[in-house]
Amino acid sequence: MDKGRKLIIAGNWKMNKTVAEALDLVNGLKRELANIKEIDIVVCPPFTALSDVSKAILNTNIRLGAQNMSEHNFGAYTGEIAAGMLKEFSVRYVILGHSERRQYQKETDELIAKKALAAHAASLKPIVCVGETLAQREAGRTELVVGTQLRKSLAALSAGQMEETIIAYEPIWAIGTGKNATADQAQDAHMFIRKQLAAMFNETVARHARIQYGGSVKPSNARELMSQRDVDGALVGGASLEDRSFSDIIKNCVN
Ligand code: PEP
Repeated sequence: MDKGRKLIIAGNWKMNKTVAEALDLVNGLKRELANIKEIDIVVCPPFTALSDVSKAILNTNIRLGAQNMSEHNFGAYTGEIAAGMLKEFSVRYVILGHSERRQYQKETDELIAKKALAAHAASLKPIVCVGETLAQREAGRTELVVGTQLRKSLAALSAGQMEETIIAYEPIWAIGTGKNATADQAQDAHMFIRKQLAAMFNETVARHARIQYGGSVKPSNARELMSQRDVDGALVGGASLEDRSFSDIIKNCVN
């Protein structure tokens, strides 16, 4: 099926990998994935490995992402990293509003909206994460929750910026649990998200914006999930920590 959108598969390494381990992983990925042109491939190492991984992937088909950034450009914000600092390592993407940051760092949609704007100002493409808890899904509140997250966290963006923004639909009950959403559940949620983008921005934005699925993606389920009409890629946690499983996910999704 030609959706008119290139698949984008990103690995979120979270708080894993020393520099040496990160280089091992990315060198394995370079070997495994050298010939893949059909899919945008992104790795998101911890900040401490960005510099070395950036050098290791020079002139390859692998792009670099960060897992978070500050909404501020510089100043007295101890422990924070600004977009301009990420740009020094040729970072192209930045994950914003991951459910773990929403939960543990209490990040709000309003904060994520500021970060998304700051990312675009630095020409970084945000990967904005949304998704419901199991209790919210079981209470029939998925669309309400995800719709609110989208409306608030994308509030500051222009239509042009939205076209360059990636949404990651990550049902929280599927993250790190081994229990992925079914292809139908993913497609339903992604179709809803695309309709919301049409209502918030316009039809062209909705047609062009890429929506990743995240939540226990692995080599055995990636192809079916990616073949859904409104699923344009994956944000992969656990299975991105090993070169074989991450590259198998990608290879399995090449037509
Ligand atoms: C994630 O944390 O973004 C994620 C999708 O994790 P996992 O693939 O391990 O479920």
